[in-house]
Amino acid sequence: VIKGIRHFLSAHRRVPVRREILSLISVGIALLIAGALLTSFQYWLLRDSLRQDLSVQARIVGDHVQAALAFQDKKAAEEILVALRASESIAASTILDTDGNVFAHYEQKADGATPVPALRAARPRREEMQVEHVIDYRGTRLGTIRLTASLHQTYIRLAVFVAATLVTLAMSMILAKLLVSGTHKNVKRAEERLDYLAHFDPITNLYNRHAFNERLDFAIERSQRFGSRVALLLLDLDNFKTVNDTLGHQAGDVLLKTVAQRLLLKLRRGDTTCRLGGDEFAVILENIPDGHQAEVVAQKLVECIAAPFKLDSQEAFVTASCGIGLFPEHADSAANLIRNTDIAMYHAKEAGKNIAAMFRGEMNKKAARRIDIEGGLRLALERDELELYFQPKMDFRRKRLMGAEALLRWRHPEHGFIGPAEFIPVAEDCGLIIPIGAWVLRTACMQAAAWNREGRDAIGMSVNVSALQIKDPEFISIVADALSLSALPPHRLELELTESILMEDVQSSLVMLRRLRGLGVHLSIDDFGTGFSSMSYLKRFPINTLKIDQSFVADLPADKENAGISQAIIALAHTLNLKTVAEGVETASQAEFLSSSGCDYLQGYLFSPPLPASQFTKWWDKGEYIAS
Ligand code: C2E
Ligand code: MG
Ligand code: MG
Repeated sequence: VIKGIRHFLSAHRRVPVRREILSLISVGIALLIAGALLTSFQYWLLRDSLRQDLSVQARIVGDHVQAALAFQDKKAAEEILVALRASESIAASTILDTDGNVFAHYEQKADGATPVPALRAARPRREEMQVEHVIDYRGTRLGTIRLTASLHQTYIRLAVFVAATLVTLAMSMILAKLLVSGTHKNVKRAEERLDYLAHFDPITNLYNRHAFNERLDFAIERSQRFGSRVALLLLDLDNFKTVNDTLGHQAGDVLLKTVAQRLLLKLRRGDTTCRLGGDEFAVILENIPDGHQAEVVAQKLVECIAAPFKLDSQEAFVTASCGIGLFPEHADSAANLIRNTDIAMYHAKEAGKNIAAMFRGEMNKKAARRIDIEGGLRLALERDELELYFQPKMDFRRKRLMGAEALLRWRHPEHGFIGPAEFIPVAEDCGLIIPIGAWVLRTACMQAAAWNREGRDAIGMSVNVSALQIKDPEFISIVADALSLSALPPHRLELELTESILMEDVQSSLVMLRRLRGLGVHLSIDDFGTGFSSMSYLKRFPINTLKIDQSFVADLPADKENAGISQAIIALAHTLNLKTVAEGVETASQAEFLSSSGCDYLQGYLFSPPLPASQFTKWWDKGEYIAS
């Protein structure tokens, strides 16, 4: 809408002063012509009414002088004429006999007093009007009466009319001018505001996306002309959403403003800083000597954002991931530079966030594969390319199988098997994790129930759940449907969630976890120890199990630090009345150590890698639980 209004305004730009004067003059001329026409019409009206007046009077006087004429009584005729002095406009009146000779005459003097009979010319003067009326009696012509009126009064009236018209015209012109200039001022103000909105972000006062595109185009044009180098930095805040959701949108706005101020403090005047929307910022550096210089600036920006933010009474921690792209090294156009810098930014995010990454050619290949994966993933469910593998979870001391974890695999028609670590993040990004996650839940529950029906021992079934699924309001009914469809007892299903999922939005996570526990399913925290969960939340979350992350299991028991951490997690879990599962157990000594430290269950290649259902049952039936 704003674009449309701007377009309209720029097409009807403020009239330049000279044109404004010209248009005022032409309006004035038009008004004057209208005034002149009105005046002529008024003159004609006045003359016409005077003529009618004279005609009426001539007829009346004519009727009165019939007798005087018939009896040739000049005196009587003159007396009748004298009576006309009451009429201001009549300057002279003459009665002519049938031969055209003057019979009686009366002329009004300037003082209007005494009648002085005198002869008047037959033709009226210029400022006079004459009316003649034939006097007859029953068809016999007796003579003629001629009345001469002065136009003096008419001219005075006309002059008053003209003056009034001129004053009215002048006042209308002034009013019109005032109205027009008032409108001009408003239009100008609106135009300035629209211009601001079109180019600036109102929250941070930085250039917006529109201005960014313009500026980047200019920078690239200059770089092509002068052979200089442009660096583009794209910054994306890593955990802005958490701040926005937990501290509110106002705090989020304050944080964005502060980020903008920090960026500006670190940059030079010639650099262009923009907010592209949401938590994305862009910086254009012109005349940058080399890529290293751009990296130095990017590093400074990433560091300045990582410092804590004071929002009201709270402290917030936000980091940024930054992509760096160079023109002409990394792209041949503005659009490609943005695209490749964006790829570098995603790379920085994937590499652990809070860093800056320079674009490299091979990133493009990765991005292309990602696009490929995203396209293929949409069809994977339909084409039945997804499959669940199962990995046993053991009670090591009793040498018993306790449960299985369902792990997703994708048989890609071209790329072969693709691991979940690669395609689950893509599925999360494009929302496909919702239908895929529902399929996993259904299939895992059906499989567990099917094993039950085959008369096997009842074991638990663990299913991994993504952040997006937990946020989905339908998730509860998806879980309930999977349970009722498979008739699996709810306590046999365990959902694995990571700490970061739960900490992203503690309040709504708590609500969702309670509802899931209400269904009777078990909950466990996966990869425990790698995220940040606060002890107080851990106590409040209605969970059953902690899964010790594989990184703490590696090199046990030799690695003293890992030994300490895994023992601490086991102790913590038991204090909170939770079970523990260790993941990634590959050696017997790891298993011995963990088991003697009190870990309840173990999972890892020592027992079996994840297997397709048919191989899993074979492994189960063999009963040789330790892999050789
Ligand atoms: P996770 O839930 O922590 O799964 C454990 C991962 O460790 C699995 O990788 C498993 O194959 C691997 N692993 C098991 N034992 C050993 C061992 O002894 N040594 C080593 N080095 N690795 C072992 P996988 O199957 O590639 O899955 C990776 C991650 O993908 C899983 O981590 C899980 O977070 C996610 N994932 C898998 N399936 C699903 C799914 O259906 N839905 C969701 N949302 N995520 C899934
Ligand atoms: Mg898991
Ligand atoms: Mg894990």
